[in-house]
Amino acid sequence: MPASKPLEEAVVQEFAANLRGELMRPEDDGYDATRAVFNGTIDKRPAMIARCAGTGDVVQGVSFARTHDLLLSIHGGGHSVAGNAVSDGGLMLDLSPMKGIRVDPVRRTAQAQAGLTLGEFDHETQAFGLATTLGVVSVTGIAGLTLGGGLGWLNGKHGLACDNLLSADVVTADGRLLTASDEENEDLFWGIRGGGGNFGVATLFEYQLHPVGPVLGGGLRYSAGEARDFLRFYHEFASTCPDELSTAASLGRAPDGSVVVGVAVCYCGSIETGERVLRPLRTFGSPLEDNIQPMSYRALQSAPDAEFPFGRQHYWKSSWLKHLSDEAIEVMLRFVAEMPSLISGVGLQQMHGAASRVDPAATAFPYRDEHYDFLILSQWSDPSDSEENIRWTRAFFEAMQPFFETGVYVNNLGEEGEDRVKEAYGAHYERLVALKDKYDPTNLFRLNQNVRPMAQSGAPS
Ligand SMILES: Cc1cc2nc3c(=O)[nH]c(=O)nc-3n(C[C@H](O)[C@H](O)[C@H](O)COP(=O)(O)OP(=O)(O)OC[C@H]3O[C@@H](n4cnc5c(N)ncnc54)[C@H](O)[C@@H]3O)c2cc1C
Repeated sequence: MPASKPLEEAVVQEFAANLRGELMRPEDDGYDATRAVFNGTIDKRPAMIARCAGTGDVVQGVSFARTHDLLLSIHGGGHSVAGNAVSDGGLMLDLSPMKGIRVDPVRRTAQAQAGLTLGEFDHETQAFGLATTLGVVSVTGIAGLTLGGGLGWLNGKHGLACDNLLSADVVTADGRLLTASDEENEDLFWGIRGGGGNFGVATLFEYQLHPVGPVLGGGLRYSAGEARDFLRFYHEFASTCPDELSTAASLGRAPDGSVVVGVAVCYCGSIETGERVLRPLRTFGSPLEDNIQPMSYRALQSAPDAEFPFGRQHYWKSSWLKHLSDEAIEVMLRFVAEMPSLISGVGLQQMHGAASRVDPAATAFPYRDEHYDFLILSQWSDPSDSEENIRWTRAFFEAMQPFFETGVYVNNLGEEGEDRVKEAYGAHYERLVALKDKYDPTNLFRLNQNVRPMAQSGAPS
């Protein structure tokens, strides 16, 4: 993709003067820190970064990019592994300064600006004993996560993040600010619940909240010797567990190199019932560790943060997995035993209950089923180890192919090509193209898992 053309200085100065937030350029202090994203393999240098102070700045930025034919990227929380929040030579609209949030404890709703992280959002809602489904690592941004679906600890009871969206304010490619909800611009509302940032810049999200906490949360860990039997049992247990319980299994290696299998849980109903529900899981075999206990929802949400520091090298491969067969378990254990980086891991995040019962046609998120979001999450620190880690991840992913369903969760995709993007949107792809034709016919919003408008389909990406 060609970088944007250089602009005359006076034009840039005028744009800067029209912003309430700061316009950064490569020579400015803070430019390198602001262009950096979670995935350290991404090292891109935009020509300009507009640090948006509010919706007005977003409108200015979208119009400026359209008028001057600039490559436009949108930065919410900066945690997408694909790194589309930033480009070489383009304009980045950095929404991370936009952290306003208003909780209405009576209506149990929150209006939240697009620069909030999960932890910041939870901090405000939990002050009223409320929460909604978001992801499981608190430093992630609410914006990218919600627009792609949003799978987290409350999905069994309350659905995905996008299922809890009541409305959103969206700046479209023509610079208009639209409200998308069940009553207004319903087609846009459908599309932004799973279709990512393809249709405009979401500046404000309104969520339904629910009373949540304290929860029964934490995890269990088993040694390699018990891994097979435990995973078999876990699969049976997960497939019959109540909506109040959501789980995530993982495989990794301990600092001494041995394989370790774990499961993390969140029971969001009464603690007493949760203790009863979780007993079979906790009394299976002899866990190396059991730290499941009553805790605040915020404590659970931030528990894994230290395992995902900003700036490490990342390469992910993912797919939906329905049946955790003995053969699949064997492949997983074999590859994890040879995992080149001890800080990598495999996650199986359970999607079930309320999230799986939503009509697949109701939102753009297509994969409504009881299944696992299977993710090989490779991370390492030294860029010179990249080749070995990427090779291992690809070989592992290839070996798992016989066990996968079709499709992938869009928010786990890296730069994996158009076929994988189509797989992520599944049966909704054509409808998303029609929506793209209506709201973004020139593909101004193309730095994302891109749905190309009809006029550009077939053109090289
Ligand atoms: C450590 C870690 C843990 C994760 N855990 C979970 C999890 O538990 N559940 C889950 O569902 N996902 C999870 N994810 C995936 C997560 O949903 C995606 O990485 C998501 O893209 C993060 O959103 P962001 O705003 O931080 O990212 P960004 O990189 O800022 O944005 C990603 C893309 O979203 C679009 N976008 C962002 N903001 C806007 C906006 N305001 N308007 C329009 N488009 C926008 C843009 O296309 C952008 O390129 C996790 C990711 C990481 C790194």
